[in-house]
Parts: sequence; C-alpha cells; structure tokens
Amino acid sequence: MLSIEKAREIILGKVFLLPPERISLEKALGRYLAEGIVSTLAIPSHDNSAMDGYAVSIKDVPSEGTILTIDSVLSAGEMPEQPMRKGCAVKIMTGAPIPDGADAVVKREDTDAEEGRVRINKVPKRHENIRFSGEDIHEGQLVITGGSLLGPAQIGVLASLRLPMVLVRQRPVVAILATGNEISELGEEASSHTIISSNSYTLMGLIKITGGIPLYLGIAKDSKTDLKEKLVSAKKADLILTSGGVSMGDFDLVREIMQEDGNTLEFWTVDMKPGKPLAFGSFSGVPAIGLPGNPVSTMTSFYEFARPAILKMQGANDILLPRVRARLKDALENRGDRPHYIRGILERSGDDLIVGPTGPQGSGILTSMARGNCFMVLPKGVTLLEKGSFVECEIFPGGFFL
Ligand code: AMP
Ligand code: MG
Repeated sequence: MLSIEKAREIILGKVFLLPPERISLEKALGRYLAEGIVSTLAIPSHDNSAMDGYAVSIKDVPSEGTILTIDSVLSAGEMPEQPMRKGCAVKIMTGAPIPDGADAVVKREDTDAEEGRVRINKVPKRHENIRFSGEDIHEGQLVITGGSLLGPAQIGVLASLRLPMVLVRQRPVVAILATGNEISELGEEASSHTIISSNSYTLMGLIKITGGIPLYLGIAKDSKTDLKEKLVSAKKADLILTSGGVSMGDFDLVREIMQEDGNTLEFWTVDMKPGKPLAFGSFSGVPAIGLPGNPVSTMTSFYEFARPAILKMQGANDILLPRVRARLKDALENRGDRPHYIRGILERSGDDLIVGPTGPQGSGILTSMARGNCFMVLPKGVTLLEKGSFVECEIFPGGFFL
C-alpha cells in the first residue's frame, strides 16, 4: 500500500500553480504572495525620536543637572528648520525627525523645564531614544518572500511600503460532491435513519480556511448516472473533492467512475488510519481526490492530501501542517499496523507541551475532531508509547479568513 508521503507526492505532481492576479491590499488577507517584495524605500525614512523629550548633543550634557536653552519645538510631521545650536536642546515629540547635530533624546520624565530652559536629570547615552532611518527596512531589502501568507502584519508592512495593490495567486475553485443513498442535506425532510451530510460543511470550511473557493455540488446517489450528472458542473473547478463511495462496498462507485474513459485513477488506498480508502485521479481532466466518507477520515485525508494540493496551487511556501513534539499525558497503545492519526488536545504544562487523546477515536466520531487541536501521529510499527514519552503532533490550522 502507498505511504502517506508517496501518495501526497503523486497528488502534488498532478496539481499546478494558478496564475497571479493583482488585487487591492484591503482584499489581500489570507492570500499568498506571487512575488517577493523588495523595498524601494527605507523605513523609517528619517532618523526620528522614539520618545517625547529633548533632542540634545551629548557633548553639551557632561553631567547630571546640566541646563540647556530650549531652542525650538518639533512635532511629528514637522521638519527641523535648522541644525542644533551649541548648548541648546530641541523639545521633540515621538516620531519627529531628529535635527542635525543632535545625537540623543532625553525623555521628558528625566527632565525639568521652566521658562525656556530645561534641566537634564540623566546623562544620555549616544543614540539613546533615536530610531534610525532604515532600521526596520532598508532600501533594496527583500522584505517578504514570494509564497508567503498575507496576514495582518504582512499587509501592514505592504501598506507602510506604500503599495496599494499586491500580486497574489488566484484562489482555486474546489468542487465538493457528497455521495451516498443514506446521506441527506441539512434542512431537507429526512427519515431518522438518514445521515446528515456533515462532510459538506466540514469540507466547505476546510476549503475556505485553506484559501480555496468551495463549489458545492450537493449529494449524489450511489448510482453512476447520478454521480456523473452531478460531476458535470465540476468541469470548471481546479480540484474536485468527493466524499464517500471509495471503500469496498457494492455501492462504492466513485473509484469505478475514475477508471472510465476520459477519467483517470492514479491510486487507491493509502497506508494510514483513519483514511485508508482514498482514491486519487481525475474527472474530465480535473484532478479529483476521492475522500473516504467517514467524517473523521474525510477531515484527516483533507489535511494530509487536499490541503497541501490547494496550498500548492496558490504557491504557498508551507503546505504541511506545522509539527511539534509533545509529551504524552498517559501511555498510548496502538495496533501499529498503520500510521495512526489520533485526535489530541495539546496544552502547556509548565515548560512542557503535553498531549492526550480527545476520547473515543472511531472514524465516525466527529466530536473527536471538534474537541481536539491536533493529530498525534503514531508511526507505523509503534504499539506502545509510555507516559511522558514524546509524540509528534500536527497542529490544526486556526485563523479564519471570511
Ligand atoms: P462510504 O465510504 O460511502 O461507505 O461512507 C462511509 C460512512 O461515512 C457512511 O456510512 C456514512 O456513515 C458516512 N458518510 C458518508 N458520507 C457522509 C457525509 N457526506 N456526511 C457525513 N457522513 C458521511
Ligand atoms: Mg457511501
């Protein structure tokens, strides 16, 4: 059976980078930069004061108690009219440019001022309380690399670089098709033994937080005709995700359709738990991941395979869930037959990160995902991990771009 890494490699080999588009900065949250940003400016543009206080030349302040004449007052946004004169201080506000000749700012708390003069109560050090031109960003600097995710800080940096527009990758349209005779839409009249399509909701959310645009195709019955009919509208998508219909049952037809003319089946089944029945191929040339139907398997396979694919299409630098090592709260036993993705709760305990399972781990128990914040990844062959030993954890992504 294919390893997770090999299966992911095959999928990533079949999805392509989307073209870039230039958008306004206000719309850029959650998007991926399509080019590196090289600054044409220095930030700050001028040496300026980090404090409200007095700009001085340290030569003029040999000792505590020195009294200087207040030459002028400089507010932020004003340019100094003349260089500092000997024996003088310039009253200066935070952000105001440092006058020529000044080499320190004494903060107001360390002074006493009266009648045009100021007593300096603390001898300043050279360059104290001065923010230098270019100390944040220098001209010609690569400030943000291509493929970076634009969050609030990155967008703020772009704004300070005076860039109202930004080149980002287009967002992939990701079609979702749920399958199953027993599956119903929320809100539809349904008998008590039908199952509501929670996968439609988890997948829509997962696609959105990964930067994709969900294209919801509804629920197909377990019939080739209905599946094919519903898949017609997926032709305009960049990626298709189906849920269910890829196991060993008599009515698991998604994989069968992938084997028909015009479609492809690249592989079926991956060595992992949950999520073994995964099919990958294409429908009418559009790459398609046949996710297993069980709600936990659907989400796990999304995180391991669909998420990296959606991120690759956007040119993202980081496409895998971030990993940390945490200590087990309790011993953990496992069959060891496949790599196991156990839903866990990761938390701090003193200086340590500790982790424990969310409770029952059946692949139909979606609350095991809802209660958790990570996967504890147990490698194949590991049957027992002692309490206090380390386990690798993959952290669920946070941050919702709505
Ligand atoms: P399947 O792989 O089609 O046999 O589906 C496995 C199980 O997953 C089914 O028995 C359902 O309980 C569940 N399932 C399938 N599709 C969905 C869905 N869209 N929403 C929630 N559960 C589902
Ligand atoms: Mg089914």
